[in-house]
Amino acid sequence: MRVLVVGGAGYIGAHMCKMLAESGHEIVVLDNFSTGHKAAVQWGRLEEMALADVGRLDAVFEKYQFDAVMHFAAASIVGESVRDPLKYYENNVSDVISLLRAMQRHRVMRFVFSSTAAVFGEPQSDFIDEQHPRAPINPYGASKLTVERMLMDCVSAYGLSSVALRYFNAAGADPSSLIGESHQPETHLIPKLLRRVAGEDIEVRIFGGDYPTPDGTCIRDYVHVNDLCSAHLLALNRLREMGSPTFEAFNLGNGQGYSVKEIITAVARTTGKKLDLSVDPPRHGDPARLVADGSLAKAALGWMPKYTEIADIIDTAWRWHRQPRY
Ligand code: UDP
Repeated sequence: MRVLVVGGAGYIGAHMCKMLAESGHEIVVLDNFSTGHKAAVQWGRLEEMALADVGRLDAVFEKYQFDAVMHFAAASIVGESVRDPLKYYENNVSDVISLLRAMQRHRVMRFVFSSTAAVFGEPQSDFIDEQHPRAPINPYGASKLTVERMLMDCVSAYGLSSVALRYFNAAGADPSSLIGESHQPETHLIPKLLRRVAGEDIEVRIFGGDYPTPDGTCIRDYVHVNDLCSAHLLALNRLREMGSPTFEAFNLGNGQGYSVKEIITAVARTTGKKLDLSVDPPRHGDPARLVADGSLAKAALGWMPKYTEIADIIDTAWRWHRQPRY
């Protein structure tokens, strides 16, 4: 298929491009490089532009005749979304409307959308499945849920078929180390720890030590970036095979939770360097435990995550962070 990868210069988008190219698909990356990296665009063609530029967007759709579109170009930091919600609604909702309008005008009817566990809000069960109530507690989660709802409405109205994939905690890097995670500033636990071990002068503290968990720190479900991408590939095939228009959503996680302290220990094991970290107050909006029930993705898409051991996920991330290329 010829696939437009919006946000293909970002962390997950770049991994997706590599996997699409290796699976024989043709790729066009659309990115405005607000957070992405030119050096991450190593597969397919590049269109550097903003989604809000409707004229250019039409020209790109005219030029390539896409079979499907994937969207990774979101702002995704919870704290920032609380401080600047309109940035999140502009970037994650308005720009997606602009994209969906272009798809509608050019009759591109397959869409794979990056969503998030943040659509669920405070968890009401130990393992979060697709039936869990959606009640986001921050603008980031709300912006993603808004698009999911829009996509549902677009099924019967325009015949658009889409799959929303709700990521739990994305982590790791492609084993080739050609691409990896590189946020500026970095806010995520695993890359912060690894960058600190690699010698960078960044402060890392444990956010909250009194959570109702066995060791008092937050538990998260870390899933390898390439496993997220393999789910996208399966979703793409599912959309191709789908007889009539649909919207579906799947939760993507390993179903296994690790606490912040367990991650710190795992990082020490992989890198050989132990970090002694102090405990800060909890970060606003961080639930104690977020772990997926990923069984629907496995049953319906045939998804089989390869990186089920946290040590393997951290190992690939460490290979990247020892010598990041960008
Ligand atoms: N965390 C932490 N210190 C940090 C960054 C993160 O203790 O410097 C914790 C955070 O509170 C959460 C977990 O690590 O419980 C994962 O956070 P991250 O920002 O990586 O992902 P999120 O869960 O926010 O998507």
